[in-house]
Amino acid sequence: MTDNSRDLFLRARDVMPGGVSSPVRAFKAVGRHPLFVQSGSGSAIVDADGKEYVDYVMSWGPLILGHAHPEVLGRVLETAAMGLTYGAPSEPELELAEKIVDAVPSVEKVRLVSTGTEAVMSAVRLARAVTKRDDVVKFEGGYHGHSDGLLVKAGSGALTFGSPSSPGVPKDFAKHTFVCRYNDLESVDAVLSKRKIAAVLVEPIAGNMGVVLPAGGFLEGLRDLTRKRGALLIFDEVITGFRASYGGAQEAFGLEPDITTLGKIIGGGLPVGAYGGPAEIMDRLAPDGDVYQAGTLSGNPVACAAGAATLKILKKTMPYRRLDALGARLERGLLDAAAAKGVDAAINRAGSVLTLFFKKGGAGTYEDVMQASTSRFAKFFHGMLERGIYLPPSAFEAWFLSAAHTEEDVDRTVKAAAEVLGTL
Ligand SMILES: *Cc1c(COP(=O)(O)O)cnc(C)c1O
Repeated sequence: MTDNSRDLFLRARDVMPGGVSSPVRAFKAVGRHPLFVQSGSGSAIVDADGKEYVDYVMSWGPLILGHAHPEVLGRVLETAAMGLTYGAPSEPELELAEKIVDAVPSVEKVRLVSTGTEAVMSAVRLARAVTKRDDVVKFEGGYHGHSDGLLVKAGSGALTFGSPSSPGVPKDFAKHTFVCRYNDLESVDAVLSKRKIAAVLVEPIAGNMGVVLPAGGFLEGLRDLTRKRGALLIFDEVITGFRASYGGAQEAFGLEPDITTLGKIIGGGLPVGAYGGPAEIMDRLAPDGDVYQAGTLSGNPVACAAGAATLKILKKTMPYRRLDALGARLERGLLDAAAAKGVDAAINRAGSVLTLFFKKGGAGTYEDVMQASTSRFAKFFHGMLERGIYLPPSAFEAWFLSAAHTEEDVDRTVKAAAEVLGTL
């Protein structure tokens, strides 16, 4: 039997570290080589051997309309034909900025960048400038891109500053980051009452330790505590922006952060990130203000056209209720199948994103999540892949549904899951 993905991966490993451009793609957590993807259309991808899969990775979040949406693609081709980049203002970036400002409640002005990493890194710089403070708070299990100051894990005690979670990050950078516990306001209050904190950085719905929902009152508590202590609240909506609702998690929860970071969906499949907030804060940025941040390809016309086309379709079709129903159907199907086969499983879901954890009881905190069985997940993953279902290749990732997924996709997935769960 041919395995073109394996052959390509062996070639890739000769010239690319780990054979990939981003680590989780290498499938290490599930112990096999990755699929090389040849094409995507709607809810499906086709691998290098021509085998088709229902895709629940969806490029890790951007593809809320599915692969190769004809309208988005049309807009990209039409824009690309007029030149790929100018290093000067162009209408597509204005169109995208206007759509973001129109949609996201707390955002009056927005700066476009090229990745989520860049958006968060720049938002933190801005928060530090505005507050004239250096220290920031993040949460265990939160991911905000790979910038130095945010690749930090908890220190030895709740009140000690963080330590680098990767070699190459200077301790001197990590010491400005305090790591608190998600869904634990006391851990935040403890730091904010003792340190001058520039910003509290949070995924309003955690998506990078698997999906974990904010406990009742947690986000409201962060809003109150940060106001009381003179810190800014940054919502990292790189996943939740235009996914939790059209206006993001802040619209869904009725809460306004001081700065919002965006990425993923706003590029419609091309590289776009953004950060925004009240004009008073955003006007601190150069050229009007004194906080420097720039980018050769920032506001790239082709990428912004893809993003603007995506937001336009989302606003017109408002697929969120249907996405939630699809998510509920998948959740129910998986839980019923697990119960029928006697497999301990918990599912956290926020609309069209969910994670299935192989564990007893719920998964409301980082500690809970870490109890989930990774070996069971790996077996489950392999069984699903054999049956044509492409899941994220790690137990602690979000599964993404798109408007292109159908009830048949979901039912096929549940049927495959029932078979695989019976073999665990
Ligand atoms: C993906 C992600 C990022 C980083 O975005 P990149 O485009 O990969 O740099 C930041 N924050 C959150 C919440 C993310 O999910």
